[in-house]
Amino acid sequence: MSVPRGTTAPTVVAVTELSPADLSGLRPGDELLFLNGRSPRDVIEYSLLVDEPELDLVVRRRGVTDPFTVSVSKEAGEPFGVEVSSALFDRVRTCDNHCEFCFIQQLPKGMRRSLSLKDDDYRLSFLYGNFTTLTRFTEMDLERVLSEHLSPLFVSIHATDPDVRSRLLGNRRGATSLRWLSALLEGGIEVHGQIVVCPDRNDGAILHDTLAGVLDRYPTLATVACVPLGVSRFSKEPGMRPHTQPEAAEVCDAIDLWQETFLTAIGRRMVYAADEYYLMADRPFPAKSTYEGFPQHENGLGMARAFEAAFGGDERAALGVRPGFFAWVDGAPAAGYRAQRADPSAPGAAGDAPIAILTGEYGARVLAPLVESLGRPDIRLLPVPNDYFGGNIGVSGLMTGIDLTRMLETQPVGHRYLLPDSCLSEGRFLDDLSVTDLPRPVEVVATDGLSLRRALDGARPASPASGAGCGSTPVGRSERIPVSIGASR
Ligand code: SF4
Repeated sequence: MSVPRGTTAPTVVAVTELSPADLSGLRPGDELLFLNGRSPRDVIEYSLLVDEPELDLVVRRRGVTDPFTVSVSKEAGEPFGVEVSSALFDRVRTCDNHCEFCFIQQLPKGMRRSLSLKDDDYRLSFLYGNFTTLTRFTEMDLERVLSEHLSPLFVSIHATDPDVRSRLLGNRRGATSLRWLSALLEGGIEVHGQIVVCPDRNDGAILHDTLAGVLDRYPTLATVACVPLGVSRFSKEPGMRPHTQPEAAEVCDAIDLWQETFLTAIGRRMVYAADEYYLMADRPFPAKSTYEGFPQHENGLGMARAFEAAFGGDERAALGVRPGFFAWVDGAPAAGYRAQRADPSAPGAAGDAPIAILTGEYGARVLAPLVESLGRPDIRLLPVPNDYFGGNIGVSGLMTGIDLTRMLETQPVGHRYLLPDSCLSEGRFLDDLSVTDLPRPVEVVATDGLSLRRALDGARPASPASGAGCGSTPVGRSERIPVSIGASR
C-alpha cells in the first residue's frame, strides 16, 4: 500500500506528550500513508484532515513489514499533536518565468541547492508569504483557494500592462495571469501585491501606469510594495543595474503622489516604497503613521520606523522578521522560524563587555542615530560589507558567514557581538556556515528594536522561548525545524 505517484507521505518528526497522537502510539519516523482514506498533498490539506474528531490512519513504520491502521478519537479541533517534516508532500510548483531581475539567477555557485529552487506555488504563498506571479495558477487552484479560503496570498504584479508584464516575466502567460488576481479579490481573498521596480524596465512612466492600473482594476488589494531589484556581482543580465540616487528619489516621489491619490479614492494609502528607496535617495523615512499598521513590514516596508519605535519601547512595533531569505525551502514552520541564540555564558561574553552590533550597510544607517541617542561609548556598530554577493546588496538579512568571519577576525576577543536573526535560516547563513563557525561568540538577537534594546541593556534569555518577535531556540537544536501542524500563520 503506498501513496499516489508523485506524493510522499507526511513523516512524523515529533509527537506532543499526552496528545491524541501520543496516546494512539504514533512515533517519530512513522509515515502517515492515508488519513481517513486520503493522502494529503500538503500541510493545508493535512491540517483539515487531522481536525476531524475520528481519524483512521494507515501508518508505515520502519521495521514493521506491513502498514497498519491506527484509530484516533479526539475532540473536534483538538490539536492532533504531531509535527511533520515538510509543508508539501507532492512537488513544489516551480516557476517557468525568466525574469531578468531574478535574484536566484544571481546566486554564486556552491550555495545549497534548495536555495536555487524557483517556486511559483500559491500554497507557499499562503504558508510563508512567498510571492507568486500566478502564471501557473489554474481553475482548480482557484476553486481550492476560494473553498478553503486560503487567505492572505502574495502576488507579484510588476506591471499591469499585459505586454510589459509578459516582457518582465519572460513569459507570455504573464500578460494574462493577472486575471486570477481579479478572481481572487472577487472571491474575498486578501491579497498583497509587489512590484519589483527595475530601472529602464518598469520605473518612471510605467510605474505610474501600473499604480493607475492597480487603482482602476484591483482597488481591493490589501497593499502593494514597491521594492528595488537586487543586483549581485554574479548577475549575467547586462540590462539590470541598481537605481541611481535620482531614480530612487523618483520612486519615492511616485509613491508619495499615489498614496495621496489612493487615500482620496479608497481611504487608505495601499502603496508603499521599501525602506531601501529612502536610504538610496538619502531621504527621511515616512512617518510611522503612514504605514497604517506595517502590513508589509516583512517585505522591508516601514521596517526602519517600526524598529525605531520598538527601540524606543513601543512593544507593539516589535514586529521582528519572517524566517529570512528563502527560509521556507527547507520547510520552515508556518509559525515562523526562530533563530538560534548563542550561549550567553560563552567565553568572552561578559555582561559589562563593550558591545558591537553586526549589521548590513543599510542596517547601519538605520541604527546609527538610534545607537547614538543612547550616548553609550561602550556600544559600536559594525557594518559588514557584503563582499559575498557584492553589487548593491546591503541589507542585514543577506549577511553571510564568510563576510562576518572576515569582519570578526579583525575584532577584539572579550567583547559582546550582537547579530540579527534575519540573516539566519535554520541556524545557517546563506553560505551554509553557522554561528558556531564564526571566530567570535555571537549573540543572535531577534530583528526588532525591542530585542536589540534589551540585548544592549544586558538582558539575555535564560531559556529558549518561542513566539513572534523575540523568541529563540538554543544552540544544538536539530538543524531541521519541522512544520507544526495546526499552527496558523
Ligand atoms: S518569478 Fe521569481 S523565481 Fe521566477 S524567474 Fe521571476 S524572479 Fe525568479
